[in-house]
Amino acid sequence: MINPLPNIPHILELDQDVEVKEYLSDFGARDKLWDIHKIYSQKIASLYESADNLVYADRIKGCANYLKFALKDLDTNDYGLKLAAAHFCHVPQCQLCNWLRSRMWRRRFFKILPQMLADLGDGYQFLFLTLTARNCELDGLRQQLKDMSAAWKRLSERKDFVTFKGFTRTTEITRNYDVYFHDASTLRFIGRMGTRKYYDWFYAFLAAGGDRDLVRVYPTREAHPHYHALLLVEDSYFDKSKSSYWHHSKWMHEWKSALRIDYDPYVHIKAVKSFDAVEEQVSIDDLLDISLDVDFDQQPKKDISSQLIKSVLETLKYCVKPADIVGEIVTHPCSDGFSNYQWLQDFTEQVYRVRKIATGGLFKSYLKDLDKDESDSDLIGDSGEGDLLGVEYLFKWYNQVNKYKLLDVI
Ligand SMILES: [Zn+2]
Repeated sequence: MINPLPNIPHILELDQDVEVKEYLSDFGARDKLWDIHKIYSQKIASLYESADNLVYADRIKGCANYLKFALKDLDTNDYGLKLAAAHFCHVPQCQLCNWLRSRMWRRRFFKILPQMLADLGDGYQFLFLTLTARNCELDGLRQQLKDMSAAWKRLSERKDFVTFKGFTRTTEITRNYDVYFHDASTLRFIGRMGTRKYYDWFYAFLAAGGDRDLVRVYPTREAHPHYHALLLVEDSYFDKSKSSYWHHSKWMHEWKSALRIDYDPYVHIKAVKSFDAVEEQVSIDDLLDISLDVDFDQQPKKDISSQLIKSVLETLKYCVKPADIVGEIVTHPCSDGFSNYQWLQDFTEQVYRVRKIATGGLFKSYLKDLDKDESDSDLIGDSGEGDLLGVEYLFKWYNQVNKYKLLDVI
């Protein structure tokens, strides 16, 4: 076991009982995330192995097995680790890479945001938009994504759309689950997870003392692609008496006709009222790992009051939740007779080279690099806030303990 601390006595004031740090997760709460995401990646690699996609399995297994961190002086009492070097696999479904990719997008966006707001000056606000279409069979996902992309293009080229001065749009795909009540003698379909019918039943069931273990969740073959977008409008947009304002009904009508469908799609539009982009105590580093995998209006894990920041975080997150990729909430085989590894392999083929981010209008000059092919150094990012202290820590991934372990201090 290596104790790194004696190597840097001039930096840290040691006391006799100082804790020996053996694993990356011993260094701080944020450093634990490396283990969590690497474990997901290992699960994804074994699913690809089952699907006989050994190229992706091997690449993901080799992703970031060594991490080199630099020690950073965050302020007078606090030290942190900043990733300095690593090799990543860049497989689109690798969770470790996905996590870092979402951090990269957020870092880029939050860096340009103050400049963009300063350049725009007063008189602008943001909207947060969600556009959906009906669930599709996994085999039809690629076509569905093409149809949605063509629909967005038609929508954004319409004359009325000039009211929106800029946009950033991302694609999110969620997996669908069927919920059954399942006791010794009964198997009853309750509803599709996430629907009102399911929630109404589930909360009534729990309130009546129902046994949660009798509620079973089965994945289906269906996928649910949808768009999140951040739109820029002028203050005058909110004069609802003017035709330039898009009511919810107009959004629904325009999206329905652009998508050329005969049902009413779910559309959600919300004004992002405050322009308080930069909160004093919150650094960009603080914002990168916030999870908003909860309803948008619920509090995120960190209390961020800025609606604008929350909207950016919601827009720039994973394209697919890691739990959906590995079928994590599922303890049963799929209800329609296929397995998680097949879902992942089919999904991989359906989304191959599909663009995840589009930008337009005034956002374009600020955000043009968001969806470019990324290198290792893009995922590593810059050193952020705080001074580097010239000390580096080398960690290696160990499958036996599912942790990054400290190898050396340089
Ligand atoms: Zn990777």
